[in-house]
Amino acid sequence: MELIVARHRDDLVKARRGGEVALVPTMGALHEGHRSLIRQARARADQVVVSIFVNPLQFGPNEDFSRYPRTFDADLDVCRAEGVDVVFHPDAEVMYAPDRQVSVSAGHMGTVVEGACRPGHFDGVLTVVLKLFNLVQPDLAVFGQKDAQQLALIRRMVADLDLPIEILGAPTVREPDGLALSSRNRYLSDDDRQVALALSRALRAGAAELTPAGVRAAARAVLDAAGPRLEIDYLALVDPATFADVDETYEGTAVLAVAAKVGTTRLIDNVTVTLSPAS
Ligand code: AMP
Repeated sequence: MELIVARHRDDLVKARRGGEVALVPTMGALHEGHRSLIRQARARADQVVVSIFVNPLQFGPNEDFSRYPRTFDADLDVCRAEGVDVVFHPDAEVMYAPDRQVSVSAGHMGTVVEGACRPGHFDGVLTVVLKLFNLVQPDLAVFGQKDAQQLALIRRMVADLDLPIEILGAPTVREPDGLALSSRNRYLSDDDRQVALALSRALRAGAAELTPAGVRAAARAVLDAAGPRLEIDYLALVDPATFADVDETYEGTAVLAVAAKVGTTRLIDNVTVTLSPAS
């Protein structure tokens, strides 16, 4: 089947063939992480739609919206190779009317951890994702655990707003040395990249511990050892459903999340850890 490029709602309606539809929302500059989401979608659905849209609403005024990588032709090749049926690539003017008023609020959960560093970011994410859901009308949608707070908030939105869409989470794809794949990695120099490895190393050190204090201390020690070129935004050990900090009595699965700048490039990463009480 020929890959269809849809730019408007009408194109999406025409491209519908019946059967289960899976949506993979992306901002493009597709890499192996995106490919793994597409494969998960392909394995579950009759028709796979990948959206490629750099969403202005989720970038702050001092963030990298204008320099975010845009590699549409290469992205189309990736989508063809992965057997994608439809690429939805709208213009910002098609998505956002100049007189628009209504948007989604991510609530308190959108203001903690990553949301505390990026005010309004998750409102922008949930607004575009809800719009994509309404435009594409998928039966299921796939998101990466790489953006763990985003995935948790999308699950929250689906529950709170009764959206009839199944959400699938996909594990983080990493380079052999541990660095989580990201569209922003292309901005790292060889030296930056070595510094950036402290993120995944810190998460692995944390995940080897059993108590919240032990996890936090082990991860922090690795970050501190990376030196001043690693500018840490946060290291957080949180409940995976709410992103509230866990206390010493917490048991079970938690998310250890980190964000840091290396030079001008901001990176995030996280792992799941299993906590048992101190004995
Ligand atoms: P983005 O294009 O960065 O907005 O990401 C689109 C989707 O790909 C999101 O659901 C991300 O969580 C997911 N994603 C990004 N990087 C990775 C990765 N390294 N492994 C798995 N999924 C990823």
